[in-house]
Formats: sequence, C-alpha cells, structure tokens
Amino acid sequence: MLSDPQSQYEAIQRREERLDGSFLTAVKTTGTYCRPSCRAKTPRTENVDFHPTAASAQLAGYRACKRSSPDAAPPARPAPGQSTLVGRAGALIEDGVVNPARTRRDQPDHDEKGSINGSARRTAPRGTI
Ligand SMILES: [Zn+2]
Repeated sequence: MLSDPQSQYEAIQRREERLDGSFLTAVKTTGTYCRPSCRAKTPRTENVDFHPTAASAQLAGYRACKRSSPDAAPPARPAPGQSTLVGRAGALIEDGVVNPARTRRDQPDHDEKGSINGSARRTAPRGTI
C-alpha cells in the first residue's frame, strides 16, 4: 500500500485500478469515500483524506461513493501478483498435484479392447508399460 498522501493523491489522479483495495479516498466536501480508480472528478488535494479500509472511512463519518462502490467486494480482476483461479489451477498442475497426463492414462484406451496386444498388456503389472 502507498503510505504517503502525496503518492496516494497522484494515484487517484491517474485513477489507478491496480491500487483498488489498497486504500480509500475520503472526500471532505462530499462526505463520501471512493476507490482510487473512481471515475468521479478528482477532488482537490486539501479536501481528501486517505483511509486503509472502508470501516476506517465510515468510522470517520464518510459514506460509500455510489459510483465506485468502495464498500463492495474487491474487483474481480486481481492485482498483479495475486493469483486467479486459473492461475492457481495452473500452479497445481506445474507442482504435480494435479496431473492431467496421468488422469488420461488411467482411462481405458482403444488398444485394451480387442487388439492382439491387448491381452498381453492387461496381464503386465501396472507401471511396466
Ligand atoms: Zn467514487
């Protein structure tokens, strides 16, 4: 999280979506708090306060901005470095926890039904093929 107000203010001027969830901007003139990426007009620097959480902003007397819904769940798009479901699945496959190739070998294939080699293969101990 950006800890200094100058960097945070620059981030809201750029409406940096990647910082959504890392801090909230409370606007003194409107009494609302926003995500950094909020499309509303960027308030003047002397009118903003930064809060780490929605709870903190609400305790300070601010209400959630209707436009950026900062009190709702974080956006679905993860910040860089955070994993997605697909990313986690890929990592499990890479780690060998899930092995699609092994799963396919366990399914009966065409050779095991009716081919000449099929009977020999069926009697071979598993793992020697
Ligand atoms: Zn907003």
